[in-house]
Amino acid sequence: LTRLYGPLTALSNVRVDVMSALVSFDRVFEVLDLKPGIAEKPDATPIPAGTGRIEFRDVRFRYPSADEVSLATLEDVVTLDRRENETVLDGLGFTVEPGQMVALVGPSGAGKSTTSMLVSRVYDVTSGAVLIGGVDVRDATLESLRDTVGVVTQDSHLFHETIAENLRYARPGATEEQMWAALEGAQVAGLVRALPDGLDTVVGERGYRFSGGEKQRIAIARLLIKQPSIVILDEATAHLDSESEAAVQRALAEALRGRTALVIAHRLSTIREADQILVLDHGRIVERGRHDDLVAAGGLYAELYRTQFAVSPPRYEGEVEIVTV
Ligand code: ADP
Ligand code: MG
Repeated sequence: LTRLYGPLTALSNVRVDVMSALVSFDRVFEVLDLKPGIAEKPDATPIPAGTGRIEFRDVRFRYPSADEVSLATLEDVVTLDRRENETVLDGLGFTVEPGQMVALVGPSGAGKSTTSMLVSRVYDVTSGAVLIGGVDVRDATLESLRDTVGVVTQDSHLFHETIAENLRYARPGATEEQMWAALEGAQVAGLVRALPDGLDTVVGERGYRFSGGEKQRIAIARLLIKQPSIVILDEATAHLDSESEAAVQRALAEALRGRTALVIAHRLSTIREADQILVLDHGRIVERGRHDDLVAAGGLYAELYRTQFAVSPPRYEGEVEIVTV
């Protein structure tokens, strides 16, 4: 038996390596906002500048299956390898009004990340529609979509280039002044200023190795310099040291301030602040409302609250509040 296990384990390790390589490939696209297989229509219209309204209309989604993809991208190969044709989102309808923060909560696999990816059009809906500022994202110019929606995920990718170049991906003509303002807001200006090469410091393996929390703040600076009116945030579950954690929370509060936000929320402090909580389970919204009402309702949210949000260590509560205006 042991002899059999050997090769099997080796094989599955290879698979994991390939998968994680593909995941970072995905992230590169996320940063550059180049979506494989997503094309702009010839008569595309721009999303009105500064809009903050997101609307999901009866959205159904399943990841594309073998006969639907051209195998043109690595991402498609991954899709092929997964279960096919399973409905992941099953008739989602909700609206995020300008300036609101809406929190998505639910068990793992419920469809939270998928929902967030449909806003920035990483994928297109199978049926129904996602509208931003009243424009169906499939009809929008990709440039206006990129300008309107900013995404911060749990571990955003930084390029092995200088800090300045990393910021210019988000805003090509950015001045040094704008870069410093963004770094300031992201709570990382002091650190960058203290580096011998400042903005010209090369990030990554063969350059300056930022800690996890520092990298996140650079990623947030990239969002701040872009000034999107809508922010999609996949809140971290991973534990950072508490100093880094507090700085990241301040940076995120800055990123959300005055913007419309859709947050995949894991922290009680964030969830409590939400104008609306959408509770997802098996691709459906099973409950919606504010914290107190949902706790009182005694449904899935109340259970998640008891088993996950409320039992977490103190860092989950009241450390730095996320403020939305
Ligand atoms: P959550 O973020 O709530 O944990 P996800 O949106 O990541 O949930 O996943 C929802 C469902 O979609 C899960 O069943 C997951 O396995 C599936 N899924 C996620 N990504 C893909 C993919 N690229 N191809 C096929 N299925 C996927
Ligand atoms: Mg997820």
